[in-house]
Amino acid sequence: MKTYLITGGAGFIGANFLKYMLKKYEKINIIILDKLTYAGNLENIKDNLEDPRVSFIKGDICDSDMVGKIFQQENIDYVVNFAAESHVDKSIENPGIFLKTNIMGTQVLLDAAKEHWSFGTDEKGYPLYTEGKKFVQISTDEVYGDLKIDYPDGKKLKVRCEEIEELLKIRPVIPKTFGKDFFTEKTSINPRSPYSASKASADMLVRAYHETYHIPVNITRCSNNYGPYQFPEKLIPVIIKNIIKGKKIPIYGNGRQVRDWLYVEDHCRGIDMVINNGRDGEVYNIGGFNEEQNIDIARIIIDKLYCVIKENPKYQTILKTDLKTINYDLITFVKDRLGHDVRYAIDPNKTVKELGFYPETDFSLGIEKTIIWYLENWNVFSLGKE
Ligand code: NAD
Repeated sequence: MKTYLITGGAGFIGANFLKYMLKKYEKINIIILDKLTYAGNLENIKDNLEDPRVSFIKGDICDSDMVGKIFQQENIDYVVNFAAESHVDKSIENPGIFLKTNIMGTQVLLDAAKEHWSFGTDEKGYPLYTEGKKFVQISTDEVYGDLKIDYPDGKKLKVRCEEIEELLKIRPVIPKTFGKDFFTEKTSINPRSPYSASKASADMLVRAYHETYHIPVNITRCSNNYGPYQFPEKLIPVIIKNIIKGKKIPIYGNGRQVRDWLYVEDHCRGIDMVINNGRDGEVYNIGGFNEEQNIDIARIIIDKLYCVIKENPKYQTILKTDLKTINYDLITFVKDRLGHDVRYAIDPNKTVKELGFYPETDFSLGIEKTIIWYLENWNVFSLGKE
């Protein structure tokens, strides 16, 4: 039975990953380490805490004594490091905490893994590690910087990989793209915000610990996730929250920025594939193959939320406004984010070919599931608070 240390497991993706793993593996031991910052919410994992396979520790990944104790007391097989300050806007206001958690915290975890997983050295002096250990760093496509928009109106994506062509047969929607270029795992690191700079630094450290101390690692770089349990500071839950409250939906600049949207459960499946089959020391990009402009995300959610509520009158009591006010007039353009990245898009070839990963959730279905989740959980989660 494997023991996972999931840091940041009370946050959005970490909580989803916990649920995914508990459902998939009957025999598993999971330790959640989370500081419970404003973005971490025990409600996200409340039901799972009763599960004997799960234990929760409130703590900071920067606290080396505490992290060391966890490694001493538990036979950790995998570290999956989700813990991070994750909101770009906050990193522009206050970069310091991003550097501390995202970089120093990762170093503390790496040091603990190096110390507790190694049992001696080889003839060259490199540490030797117990079989089956792995450090997985959850990173972001934002470390690559941004890409140009070549096709402002989007065009059908030309399939660039035989495996995907096969997989596309089971998917009803042909993805569209807004540009010629994509991020591959070999794209140069070129972060443009304090957040992405801190994540890129952490990636470099993970890489350095692998090269210098031979720690078994993988780095995953995913695109924008959406789904249940996301704190309402990020685009999709902000849009849902504001529509329900009858408030304007703020869209940065001209709203033409392109993001590649990945349903969080698909991402969790991808991470599990990397843990099981990722080659030692490799980076894997995990994308949604689903580029959309921010302005269109707002429009899609407005349309979908209107339909969901119209078809399910029980949700009308949650609405703080009249159903007919749910229309595109809610969208308001606000001053653009400083240094706002224009487009992110992931080249899926490596992850598809090596791991067989493909995002299964069609965006239309994923967004509907997400909207319904927020409506169902409106009173429980902070989404409902002012
Ligand atoms: P989140 O902000 O929802 O959750 C982060 C979690 O980390 C929270 O539970 C928080 O309490 C915890 N945390 C923060 N600082 C900590 C510390 N010092 N010690 C222990 N716990 C701490 O973030 P998320 O969206 O779930 O993202 C998870 C990871 O995935 C992050 O590393 C992020 O950079 C990466 N990522 C996210 C996205 C996305 O679309 N959400 C995209 C690419 C990469």
